[in-house]
Amino acid sequence: MRHDNLYDFVIIGGGISSCVFVSSHIKNGFSGSIAIIENGRSLGGRSSTRKSFKNKGWQFNHGSPNFNICNNNNDHLLRAFIQELLDSKIIESDASDLIELYKNPLFDSKIESDFHKGSNYISSTSMSELSQNIISSHDLRNQVDYFFQTLIVKLDFENNQWILISKNGYKFKTKFLVCSSNLLLHKRSLDILKINQIPLRKAIPLNKNKKIDRIISLLNEQDYIKRLTFMIYTKPDYSYKDNYKKRFRNFLLNNSLEDKFKFERVIFQKQKNNKLGIVIHIKNKQFITEYIQSKNKERLKEKLVDNFNTLFYKSKYINKLMNYQDISSMIWRASQPTGLAIPEYLQVCENHNIAFCGDWFDLEGFGRIEGAILSALKLSYKINSIT
Ligand SMILES: Cc1cc2nc3c(=O)[nH]c(=O)nc-3n(C[C@H](O)[C@H](O)[C@H](O)COP(=O)(O)OP(=O)(O)OC[C@H]3O[C@@H](n4cnc5c(N)ncnc54)[C@H](O)[C@@H]3O)c2cc1C
Repeated sequence: MRHDNLYDFVIIGGGISSCVFVSSHIKNGFSGSIAIIENGRSLGGRSSTRKSFKNKGWQFNHGSPNFNICNNNNDHLLRAFIQELLDSKIIESDASDLIELYKNPLFDSKIESDFHKGSNYISSTSMSELSQNIISSHDLRNQVDYFFQTLIVKLDFENNQWILISKNGYKFKTKFLVCSSNLLLHKRSLDILKINQIPLRKAIPLNKNKKIDRIISLLNEQDYIKRLTFMIYTKPDYSYKDNYKKRFRNFLLNNSLEDKFKFERVIFQKQKNNKLGIVIHIKNKQFITEYIQSKNKERLKEKLVDNFNTLFYKSKYINKLMNYQDISSMIWRASQPTGLAIPEYLQVCENHNIAFCGDWFDLEGFGRIEGAILSALKLSYKINSIT
């Protein structure tokens, strides 16, 4: 760790886009110092893995459980990157069951899931380790310092240098800042960070940098899909009805079933201890609001299990869930950007040595891991050509 916390590059956020950017930048020959500052306890962000303190030994990929690539053939940077991950066995092709659930297969419409088109991949380990492995494969000289549980709440730009202040009082300085999350550009930061001005706007006032003005203005028109994920820690004797052996099994619900049961998808995740974990994704606004406001969350969890049992009643694969060890939940206020995507030319604001990556740019894969990876690869290419 640098004693003065002065780095050549600081990246706010440790999600997959940040990790791909750092890895690719080092691979492209960058030999300076880098700090990744992440609010969470580990890497991965919205594609991370929940390790429970309470339920030891369990690991749930509770955000994005896998990822799909649709544009591989059109982008040589992306194609080469995915091939490198496959060759180094960091990822593998996803051969898990993907079962589409219909109330009536003869009449109900086909499920249009943006998350399963094209080629599907899973991490060979966990989703958080995927992000770590992406960096480690190129950070052979340990150029990267990590600061976890560190939330940046304030930005300043003085004498051509960025100064970042965290909620726990740390100060970081850097010549070049990369924001892999758009929180510090967006009005939702006011509520989340309990501040009265958007941090990037405060650092660079209006009319000082046209690109920064544009990105802040456009971004504040962007909207987000909220999601709620439940993780069910089953009892040791809970298993499939059939003899399914792979690590994951996905069930997707079509719109009418989603309306009825409130589930978007159900993902079974076999644990290292052989127990069967169940992750339920919900994007139904009414259910999420009811859950957030509820003073009796246990009752809603019971309702969740009832819905699960009704959904899989008569299933040839899934047993009734009679009891369970625990259920935990995670609310994703901004699980996916939607609506307006940010034009790619705004990724780098050269005059103020600041740049951006993430799934919020107007690239193939907007709102998905594919977009996050592509934005990071493109950013490292662009920065390489200007620095
Ligand atoms: C429940 C769920 C299911 C999903 N399913 C799929 C799927 O099946 N397929 C798919 O392709 N995509 C899926 N997605 C979307 C996918 O997870 C994202 O597109 C991708 O992970 C975005 O990566 P990112 O690096 O751009 O952003 P993030 O992962 O959000 O990384 C940004 C990081 O920055 C950190 N951060 C933000 N502000 C600060 C700050 N001020 N200080 C310090 N740290 C900060 C955050 O904690 C976060 O870790 C899903 C998302 C969710 C939530």
